[in-house]
Amino acid sequence: MRHTKKQFEAEFPDDDACLEAVFQDRFGDLKFCPKCAAETKFYRVKSRQCYACKWCSYQLFPLADTIFRKTTTPLKDWFYAVYLFSVAKNGVSAKELERHLGVTYKTAWRMAGQIRKLMQQDGDILAGDVEIDETYIGGTRRMANKYSNKSAVFGAVERNGRASAEHVKSTGARVLLPEIEGHIAAGAHIHSDEWGAYRTLKRRGYSHTTVNHSKLEYVRGSAYTNTIEGFWSQLKRSIDGTYHAVSPKYLQSYVDEFVFRYNFRGVAVGPVLLERALKPI
Ligand SMILES: [Zn+2]
Repeated sequence: MRHTKKQFEAEFPDDDACLEAVFQDRFGDLKFCPKCAAETKFYRVKSRQCYACKWCSYQLFPLADTIFRKTTTPLKDWFYAVYLFSVAKNGVSAKELERHLGVTYKTAWRMAGQIRKLMQQDGDILAGDVEIDETYIGGTRRMANKYSNKSAVFGAVERNGRASAEHVKSTGARVLLPEIEGHIAAGAHIHSDEWGAYRTLKRRGYSHTTVNHSKLEYVRGSAYTNTIEGFWSQLKRSIDGTYHAVSPKYLQSYVDEFVFRYNFRGVAVGPVLLERALKPI
């Protein structure tokens, strides 16, 4: 999928064009019929979402096992929703989808959730120079303990590389150390602030440099955490601006979305999302 709405409309003018794209993606290379084994061509069966072998009428359903199966929403609306997500750097709210597609809010909410699932993190292990940090999202500031109803998120970002982030129960060592060991390769050079939970990293096979933020020591040679701080500010700006209040239940899916956007920065994400959407589930 390209970048302008005009290009989108030219490429996917209607449901049939979308189905044909799905068919080509999944079965475009198929030369022989899986049923009669003859060399064949598959033709579109009118008014059904399937293609049939020209010899034995064996049917292929391109949408089977994908997030588009059994949907009553027109395929073009789905493609357009994916397009909107692909061009919106700060995400797309269900309200915006409702307005753009002319579907109900409930449908828009469900579609947005499905599309966000395509952006789930794939458990990449980060390596090299990795900045780590924890932050708090949501809640109100008026509580006695300023973090008490905020959700904690732990994140790690390779310098010039990939990110990973998880909604965590707390920012104690018992929670964060398994996160670090699960997401960062042994031997990596970790950069962090002086948060106590990170104190034992050297003993755990990492090299570790700290920045003392309380002494306004933000940059000391290579000891800085500006990369992850940039990631947090983009995440918070998007959640505040597009999604407003995010309940803890859905926070991980929003975190996943912005990790995905970060990891695919500079790439047209429309085709990436569609490819993921067409993977059998
Ligand atoms: Zn056949």
